[in-house]
Amino acid sequence: MYRTHNCGELRLEHAGQEVTLSGWVQISRDFGGLKFVDLRDRYGITQLVFDMEDNADLAQQARQLGREFVIRATGKVRERTNKNPNRATGDVEIEVTELTILNASKVPPFTIEDETDGGDDLRMKYRYLDLRRNPVQQNIIFRSKVAIESRKYLAEQGFLEIETPFLIKSTPEGARDFVVPSRMNPGQFYALPQSPQTFKQILMVAGMDKYFQIVKCFRDEDLRADRQPEFTQIDCEMAFVTQEDILNTFEGLTKHVFKAALDVELPDFPRMSYDEAIQRFGSDKPDLRFGMEFFELNDVAQGKGFGVFDSAELVVGICAEGQADAYSNKDIKKLTEWMQRPQIGAKGLVYVKFQEDGSIKSSVGKFFSDEDLQAWGEKFGAKKGDMLLILSGETDKTRKQLNELRLEMGRRMDLMKPGVYKPLWVVDFPLLEWDEDSERFHAMHHPFTSPKKEDVARMLDGDHETMKSLRADAYDLVINGAEIGGGSIRIHDRALQAKNFQLLGFTPEEAEYQFGFLMGAFEYGAPPHGGIAFGFDRLCAIMSGQQSIRDFIAFPKNNQGRDVMIEAPSLIDDTQLDELNLKLTIDPTRDKE
Ligand code: ASP
Repeated sequence: MYRTHNCGELRLEHAGQEVTLSGWVQISRDFGGLKFVDLRDRYGITQLVFDMEDNADLAQQARQLGREFVIRATGKVRERTNKNPNRATGDVEIEVTELTILNASKVPPFTIEDETDGGDDLRMKYRYLDLRRNPVQQNIIFRSKVAIESRKYLAEQGFLEIETPFLIKSTPEGARDFVVPSRMNPGQFYALPQSPQTFKQILMVAGMDKYFQIVKCFRDEDLRADRQPEFTQIDCEMAFVTQEDILNTFEGLTKHVFKAALDVELPDFPRMSYDEAIQRFGSDKPDLRFGMEFFELNDVAQGKGFGVFDSAELVVGICAEGQADAYSNKDIKKLTEWMQRPQIGAKGLVYVKFQEDGSIKSSVGKFFSDEDLQAWGEKFGAKKGDMLLILSGETDKTRKQLNELRLEMGRRMDLMKPGVYKPLWVVDFPLLEWDEDSERFHAMHHPFTSPKKEDVARMLDGDHETMKSLRADAYDLVINGAEIGGGSIRIHDRALQAKNFQLLGFTPEEAEYQFGFLMGAFEYGAPPHGGIAFGFDRLCAIMSGQQSIRDFIAFPKNNQGRDVMIEAPSLIDDTQLDELNLKLTIDPTRDKE
């Protein structure tokens, strides 16, 4: 028998019992004739004590123990004289009488403790050691809990868990596909799904009514911070539903997992239209943990002789409460430079300080009287001590820049409080987005998204400009400024789907080649349907108040899309290449290591 208890289980009430534990040696310390070993497993840490003078054989064995050795120890539980209140098992220790070394360990390349000395690369190369660390292990345990609770909720709501294939047809959905060569079909390729989108819609045509899957998706994108080439979705679809049904069902799911995994009761989620979100926060995923809303100043700031404002499409600002005296000229200069970095690209930054002593200070004081500036302040409800930060320029760009500034001020002012969750639904997204560079429409959500009922007629016979104003039954779930889920009511009519492909620049032949199977299915009694997908990795990270999704994935890829533990991707054998009909010219000097 390896164990009677785990390493997180023993309490004072077990004192006097003989127990057996198995686990890893976290650390061992010698104290005169005693040796203390912290024994660790997934459940916790228990202190073992060896009397090194009493039993020579046992002492001899104990002396061999090094960090991360795997052992089994038997002995009596006893009360500790110096208790450790920070540890669940901290009242007791085991007086070991029998020790088996189950496996030795090399000295690990970094310390397996909450705070490790291992850098990212090292941790990823030895991910099995990193995963032994409590904070990482807790993330994985948390993820498992959220997955299990999601399944419970969806099963209770009558959803079926159905798998869809990983080897599918390349149908670019916005990102690049990962492709897999087919040995049996020379020259042809499968693609890995960017999402099960078309399959879940076909499951609705097939009468499955409510589908879900916790499923891997693959997107071959340049890896921006915190993106993974393979990631997990809670993917869902329902038939005979309106947007309202979907929002309610998945608000329910979100509330359920927050309650079950975190014991947090979320209030009802507010809703905001896409237009309103952009106007008030410059973002379709506003972080509502703090205010600092945008106020537009065109009516009070233009026509007073300040050319920069007068020529701008939009003059807009935020009010940073209580910051007037916190920012010296030098600080403002630094903040302006931060805004002028190419990543943000603001031309300048105008400030107005309503100082505690009642005076007003502004970088545009030359152009505007105190009464003018006071009128701006009134828009924001600014008080003494507050500071306005104002940008101007072309509308879309300026809003995006001010969004960055708002978030930065939120960070600096410590307004993104841990443990505070602010969910919201952003609804009424535009159906199409005009791309100036490629002179094409892109689907804002994806090509299967339905326009709102009232917009269908305009979509079928409107002109080019009309298309820009079409609204979709598309929605995003946003929590604390992160997009956690997104979905839409789908088109279920062949003619409307064909029209959408046409608007997106597909020829009828291209549409048929790529999506003929779906449009064909629509001809055999497709029910109205819609759905949503949650970014599961991000949901877990946000629930835990963490930034990075990486530590919620057991085996993540690094920034170059590599798994440095197994060293993938890697070269493959010439024979494999041959079999796959990949007639590549192989460089004979290539490194075969
Ligand atoms: N397939 C979509 C996505 O991956 C989600 C949906 O529309 O249900 O974003």
